[in-house]
Amino acid sequence: MAALLNVDDALNQILATIQPLPDETVGLADALGRIIAQDVIADSNLPPFSNSSMDGFALRAADIANANQQNPVALHVVIDIPAGSSPTGQIVSGEAARIMTGAPLPQGADAIIPVEDTDAEWKPGGNEALAESVSVKKSVKMGDYVRLAGEDIRSGERIIQSGTLLRPAEIGLLAAVGQHQVKVIRQPRVVILSTGDELIGIDEALKPGKIRDSNSYALAALVKVTGGIPIRIPTAHDTLEDVRQRFKEALAQKPDLILSSAGVSVGAFDVVRTIIDELGKVDFWRINLRPGKPLAFGQVGGVPFFGLPGNPVSAMVTYEVFVRPTLLKLGQRADHVATIDATVSEDLHSDGRRSYIRVKLKREPTGWTARTTGTQSSGALSSMMLADGLMIIPEDVTFLPAGSKLSVRLLRDLHELD
Ligand code: AMP
Ligand code: MG
Repeated sequence: MAALLNVDDALNQILATIQPLPDETVGLADALGRIIAQDVIADSNLPPFSNSSMDGFALRAADIANANQQNPVALHVVIDIPAGSSPTGQIVSGEAARIMTGAPLPQGADAIIPVEDTDAEWKPGGNEALAESVSVKKSVKMGDYVRLAGEDIRSGERIIQSGTLLRPAEIGLLAAVGQHQVKVIRQPRVVILSTGDELIGIDEALKPGKIRDSNSYALAALVKVTGGIPIRIPTAHDTLEDVRQRFKEALAQKPDLILSSAGVSVGAFDVVRTIIDELGKVDFWRINLRPGKPLAFGQVGGVPFFGLPGNPVSAMVTYEVFVRPTLLKLGQRADHVATIDATVSEDLHSDGRRSYIRVKLKREPTGWTARTTGTQSSGALSSMMLADGLMIIPEDVTFLPAGSKLSVRLLRDLHELD
């Protein structure tokens, strides 16, 4: 029997065929979670003008240098500057301007005194007439409560670099500099096809010999999490005509990737192979991986194609190991695999393939410990749901005693674990 193909070699072969996708332009409101495909240069200062960070009075700090509770200093109030207004007047020594948070600092002022340090009384939302003078009971330093023009962002500064993931903060900053449209990397369109005569829809009643098609839903969810656009198409029966018809439907979706599940085990694969030989080219691999030994990879009508194993856990694990990095490359996303080291709390046996064992993790004073989720059957989807991570037993290891330390690929954020 031919040697099994090494996991990393298989992935490298796959990735070598993958061309990253180009960009498209979207409205800023649709850009969350996308990878920006342009540098963004600020076209203006942020804030665009020096402004007050408090409701209060703009003044000259030197005028009130000696003010305190016992010796308040009186200033003439000569201007009123509500938010959104643009003051034309200026103040000179001995004068103050009533100013609202965010309103522009008037010419001549160099500091703000908050209203609570004066004798002025403002009710929230109140629109009191401007008093002629204000009595200031505290001193401030030059620049106090003033947000200087450009102190956040300077005009001409590069604020975001091409390739950055757009999170809520980036979206806010792009909005602040008026970038209402952005170039982002196109999201990979991924057609998902289930094959098998035993499959029925998830809204159908179970019948003898039939099971519900769970793979296309789990795979679609994984594609979404990886930043792709899943497109599920109807299940193909195990006939040449049906599989051919479905692959044609798949291509009509103008996908960037096609995923099928099942029908890749020896024998069953013949139908898929026959059709792909008509429409493209495929290799059928036996990978040194557990679960997920059989894997088909090639192209259909020029579109990269994965034939994943049908067993639900195998389909999900081969997705993690092979499809996820492929989609990340297509979408020009960084491939961070979050792993931790954990100590196994039971003896583990393996068959010498690289094994991804579903484990639950526990934080102990000495570090993380891992125990298996119970059955490791590649059909047991519940083991995947219970798992916090996939513990990786390297190739050629057949026995690991309790207490061994191994790397665990996380399936949850660490903060979800106790
Ligand atoms: P196959 O690769 O066709 O031999 O399928 C392997 C196992 O996976 C069989 O037990 C199938 O019933 C099961 N299976 C195949 N496709 C799906 C699917 N879409 N959803 C759930 N189980 C599936
Ligand atoms: Mg089948």
